[in-house]
This record gives sequence, structure tokens and C-alpha cells, in this order.
Amino acid sequence: MELIIRNLSKTYANGVQALKDVNLTIQQGMFGLLGPNGAGKSSLMRTIATLQEADNGDIRLGDIDVLKQKQDVRKVLGYLPQEFGVYPKITAETMLDHIATLKGITHPKERKEIVEGLLQRVNLFSVRKKNLGTYSGGMKQRFGIAQALLGNPKLIIVDEPTAGLDPAERNRFHNLLSEIGENTIVILSTHIVDDVSNLCKDMAIICLGEVLAQGNPVQIVEEMKGKVWKKIIDKKEIDTYRQNCKVISTHLFAGKTQIHVFSDQQPDTSFESAETDLEDVYFSTISQKVDTITI
Ligand code: ADP
Repeated sequence: MELIIRNLSKTYANGVQALKDVNLTIQQGMFGLLGPNGAGKSSLMRTIATLQEADNGDIRLGDIDVLKQKQDVRKVLGYLPQEFGVYPKITAETMLDHIATLKGITHPKERKEIVEGLLQRVNLFSVRKKNLGTYSGGMKQRFGIAQALLGNPKLIIVDEPTAGLDPAERNRFHNLLSEIGENTIVILSTHIVDDVSNLCKDMAIICLGEVLAQGNPVQIVEEMKGKVWKKIIDKKEIDTYRQNCKVISTHLFAGKTQIHVFSDQQPDTSFESAETDLEDVYFSTISQKVDTITI
């Protein structure tokens, strides 16, 4: 099954054009939608999840016309929204059982098996009787994935799932997502480059509502190899470098400023070749639209 998005556009009532003629083809596996805050990721996710209307365009999930056959989409969709609120005084087990009932799993024995199986899968079985309000951020996100997996969805959307998680929790969440991605379409929307480079076999970069690049992360990085140069500079020289070179990012480390510059040739002998990674691709791509980013 494929998800095909064609010429999708959306302008909000306040005049913000959140999606500009978006075209994407998304296959089974993990797909990373990478973009800075305000890029339009949530607008796109909510539209695919049938939670808001588009102005123009077409979305197909296999045979389903997503913008028209909303009920059919909802039957095969698992969605973990950016703001996933939980009822603090309810246990994970009770809550998941309740959501399973709402999703139409009405047979009690079947439901119990499914709920227990999912709690085991997301590694929350031992804490299933604890109230959700006592869960850490990572545990809440794993609970969010469990509810998204109810009903064996064919399409799973996770919107900014690792924001606020500590490194160990993020790692655990990544492992869980990559397992799920083996036989489902999983769209991971994020502004964290590592989430995409670690997990996704296909990706797109979106900024100010436009898709600026799409492809396999390894290939995209490969195409840029040999064109990124680094140099440690004095912080006060940054504006001069910005005027003279294509500075794609400035990193602060050990109290110094290191710039990464995009150039077909070595700008001058004071620059060294930099190991190119997805972060360089990301920053150079979005720098077409927004100012250089400091990390
Ligand atoms: P992202 O998820 O990448 O941060 P969003 O889709 O949330 O981006 O937002 C894209 C743009 O649309 C932003 O400029 C945001 O302020 C605007 N926006 C999002 N939702 C609404 C809304 N309901 N009404 C008006 N503007 C909105």
C-alpha cells in the first residue's frame, strides 16, 4: 500500500499558507517528515488523519480517497498527535481497554488479549496498573503508540513524538517505531534530524509549507559529499562570513564558533573538508527559505 499526496494546499483563515502544492509518495516503512517549527508538518499530518480539510489537492491511501472517505481512513489509521493528553487518574490498562472498545473491539476476551499484548509490546506491562499521571514523558509516548496500534492500522502517524524525551527514552521509542515500520506505513514528523537519520529509509524536508527535498537520507547525504567545509572562527566574524560564503550552520562547541559552509570548491585553505551528514543537508536546504540556524 502507498500513500500518495498530490497538489495539497491549505491556507488558514488568518491568511497563513501552511501547505503549498505538496506532492509526496510514501511507501511502507518509516518515512521522516523533517522541518522546523511552523513548517506545516502538523497541518499535513492532521489533513492525512482526516482532522482538517485541505483547500485543494488529493490524498490516496491504496484505494481510499482520504479527503472524501474519512470513515474508511479512520479504520486503518493510528495517530499519535503532538499534544497527547492522558487522563492522569486512570491506569494504562483501563484506558487502553476503553479506547479499544471505542475502536470497535467489543469482545471482552479478545480485547483483553489485544490490550495485554500491546502493553507488553510497548514495554509497559509491568506498570499497567499504575495511573497514567505517574508516567514519565517516554512512558506516556509509548502508551500513545500502544493506543495508535489498536486495530492493526495500515498507516501510523506520529507527530513530534520525541520532543522532551531524555536520550534513553528516545532510544527506546526509536526501537519501538522501527519495529512497527517493518509492515506498516509510519510517518514520523519531527524537527530533530537524528530521529530521521536513525530511523527512516525515506524522507522529505518541508519548510514554510513547501516540500524542498525528498529521498533516501543516505543518498541525499551522498549527493552533498565534498561540498561542505568547516572552519573555527571568531564569533564577531560571523557576519563577514555570511556575506562572503554560503554559511549553512554555526555550531558552538568548547566555547568556539564553528561554521559549516556549502561550496563546490574549498573556499580557501583555511577551511577543512567537513564530514557531511543529514544535518548539513537539512540546514542547507532550509537556508534557502530561512536564515542560518545556530545549534
Ligand atoms: P509545524 O507542525 O511544522 O510546526 P504547523 O502545521 O503547526 O507547523 O503550522 C504551519 C503554519 O500554520 C504556522 O505558521 C502556524 O502558525 C500556522 N497555523 C497552524 N495551525 C493554524 C490554525 N489553526 N490557524 C491559523 N494558523 C495556523
